[in-house]
Amino acid sequence: MTTKPNVKTCPKCHGEKPLEKFMYADKLRSYCNNCERQQTKWRIARPENRLRTALKDAKRSAAKYGAVDTLTLDDLRYLFTVANGRCAYSGAFMSAPSVEHVKPLSKGGTNSVDNILIVENALNKTKKDGDPAEFIDQHYGFAVTREIIELLAARRGIDFDVVYAEFEDAQAEYSNEFYRKLIGGAGR
Ligand SMILES: [Zn+2]
Repeated sequence: MTTKPNVKTCPKCHGEKPLEKFMYADKLRSYCNNCERQQTKWRIARPENRLRTALKDAKRSAAKYGAVDTLTLDDLRYLFTVANGRCAYSGAFMSAPSVEHVKPLSKGGTNSVDNILIVENALNKTKKDGDPAEFIDQHYGFAVTREIIELLAARRGIDFDVVYAEFEDAQAEYSNEFYRKLIGGAGR
């Protein structure tokens, strides 16, 4: 195959096109303008689709437990954007966001902005139905727990201490040594 001087083959669609149809004509692996546009659309659409999936899963769980469910796609879009697409647990960019219920749905938690974090799905799966605070403590320590309490308080427009007290109540419910230690560590 001979290389013609003013055309380039797009590695995506394999079309042979004039150089001006490439945004980065000098880069060997760059796609044609059509394919670049397609890729950009896909990059933007992906988080949106994954938030839809996360919402659907959360609503399915809420229905299963008969939990109060007021969560909307706009809520998830907003929270995802505010978090810059980062996981509330690990701080890493999420490839598959999922809805985490701080107070588990199975224990009377609601599917609402007041009670959710957006976290990487794989982490959520690791945790299963376990107590989130215990999970956070084991994996990320007190600092992250404090951040999460601050985040929930800010979102609800209430004081840190109110949310902290709720975590304390939960502690009694779980009567778990880990939880007690955690709350002690998160207190101020
Ligand atoms: Zn192309």
